[in-house]
Amino acid sequence: MSSPYWLSTNTGDWEVVIGLEVHAQVASHSKLFSGAATNFNAEPNSNVALVDAAFPGMLPVLNKHCVEQAVKTGLGIHAQINKFSMFDRKNYFYPDLPQGYQISQFYYPIVGEGHLDITLDKGIIKKVRIERIHLEQDAGKSIHDLHVKNTCIDLNRSGIALMEIVTKPDMRSPEEAMAFVKALRLLLRYLGTSDGNMEEGSLRADVNVSVNRPGKPLGTRAEIKNVNSIRFIGQAIEVEALRQTKLIESGEGVLQETRLYDHNKQETRSLRSKEDAPDYRYFPDPDLLPIHLAPEYIESLRLGMPELPDAKRQRFMEEYGLPLYDATLMVDDLETTHYYENTVKETAGWKKYKDKNTAKLVSNWLTGDLFGLLNKENKTVLESPISSTHLAELVDLMQDNVISGRIAKEVFLDMWNTHKAPKSIVDEKGLVQITDTSALESMIADTLKENPKMLADYKAGKEQLFGFFVGQIMKKSAGKANPQMVNDLLKAALSQ
Ligand code: ADP
Ligand code: MG
Repeated sequence: MSSPYWLSTNTGDWEVVIGLEVHAQVASHSKLFSGAATNFNAEPNSNVALVDAAFPGMLPVLNKHCVEQAVKTGLGIHAQINKFSMFDRKNYFYPDLPQGYQISQFYYPIVGEGHLDITLDKGIIKKVRIERIHLEQDAGKSIHDLHVKNTCIDLNRSGIALMEIVTKPDMRSPEEAMAFVKALRLLLRYLGTSDGNMEEGSLRADVNVSVNRPGKPLGTRAEIKNVNSIRFIGQAIEVEALRQTKLIESGEGVLQETRLYDHNKQETRSLRSKEDAPDYRYFPDPDLLPIHLAPEYIESLRLGMPELPDAKRQRFMEEYGLPLYDATLMVDDLETTHYYENTVKETAGWKKYKDKNTAKLVSNWLTGDLFGLLNKENKTVLESPISSTHLAELVDLMQDNVISGRIAKEVFLDMWNTHKAPKSIVDEKGLVQITDTSALESMIADTLKENPKMLADYKAGKEQLFGFFVGQIMKKSAGKANPQMVNDLLKAALSQ
C-alpha cells in the first residue's frame, strides 16, 4: 500500500489521531478470581473452575499474583499506583460470558496516569501518555466453525486476568501506534508481567482513530475492536483514516461507532453505532472487597524492578559505545540482549581493555551474519548453533590478526554447520593468517615477476593497477595473507 499524504505528523491537509486500549493477558498460572489453570493449548473447557462457569453461589477470590503484575506494569510506565482500587461489574449478555457481567475496574483502577516513550525515525523520542491500567477478567470463546448448526462455547479463557492499558489520544500516525505497541510489548516482556504473544491473543488492541484539520479540535472517533497484530494495527489505521477523510471531504460526517478491521479486504466495517452502544450499568461488585496497597508493598516491588528497555538501550550506547541503531536491535528481545552481553564479556578485547571497538564488532556479527542465518532458518537466538563463547573466540581470532575478516566469514559458516570451535576449524583447515614478512615478500616478488606487462604499466603511471596486484597476492595465499601487511609490503616493493 502506498503511503498516503497524512502519514507525516505535522504537514498536509489532515492530521490523524490515535488512542489505544490494549488488552494484555497477565502472566499467571491461575485466573484472576479462581485457581483454574491458564495454559493456552488445553482441551476445551478443561481449565474451568465453578466460579469461571458462574455456578450460582460461587464467590470470586482475588489472585494476589495478578495484582502484583499490574502494579509492576504500572511502575514500568512510571505511573501513579493507586493505594485504593475497586472492582465493578460491567453488565452485558453474551453466550460466552456466563456471569452476565464482566468484573472490571471502572471507577477506581489500580494504576493511574503514566507514560511510555517511543523512539521514532532519526532517534526522536516521543512521550505517549497513558491514562490508566485496570484489571479485568476475560470472557470465554464462542466457536462458530466446529459444528454445522451450533455454536460451541469454550470457557478456558473465562476469568483469565487481563490488564487494560488505555492511552491518551497522543499518536499521530500508523507508525507511531505500531511503535507504541512494540515498545509496550517489549516492556511487558522485560517485566515478565505478560508474554505479549499476539498470535495467541495475549495482546490485542482496540484502536481509536479520528481525523481533523491541523490546528482544529479533534474529530469524531471510530473504535476498531480487537486488532491482533502490529501490522494489522498499522493497516487498520491507514484505511480507517482514509475512509474518514473521504467522508468529511464529501460533506458527510464521521459517526462515533465501533468497527471491525477485515484484513483480507483491507477495510473496516461497522459493528454498532454509539446509539446502539450498550449501557453497562457499572456498579461495585458486592462479592469483592476493595484493594488496599501498603506503601511498603509498592516500594518493595519498585526495588525489585529489572533494568527496562529504554535504560538498557541507553546503557548499551554509553557502556559499549553502540550507535542508536545497534543498541535498539540489541535490546529488542531479552534473548538477544543476553547473547550480546555474554559474547562481549567473553572477548579478550573487553576483558582486558573494555574495548568499545570489540563491542561494536560483536554487534556487527549479530546484526549481519548471525541474524541473517537465524532468519533464513527461522530460528531464535536461543537456538543458535553458534554459542556466545564461540562467537567471542572468533572475534578474538580476528582482533589478534590470526585470521582475516574474509576468512572469519568462512569460519563462521563452518561454525554454524559443524558447531565446532573456531580455533579448531582454523587449525584443521590451516586458515591461520600469513603474517610472516619474508613469506609475504616472496609472494609479492613472484606476483610481480609473473605480470611484467602490468608492472611496466604501473611504473608508467597506471596506479590503479595496485588493486590488481593485491588481488593476485591474496589469491596466491588462498585469502590468508594479512591484507594490511600486503598493502604495506607491496607499496615498498613497487617504489623500489
Ligand atoms: P470511552 O470511555 O468512551 O471508551 P475514552 O475517553 O476512555 O472513551 O477513550 C477511549 C480511547 O479513545 C482512549 O484510548 C482515547 O485515547 C481514545 N480517544 C479519545 N478521543 C479520541 C479521538 N478524538 N481520536 C482518537 N482517539 C481518541
Ligand atoms: Mg473504551
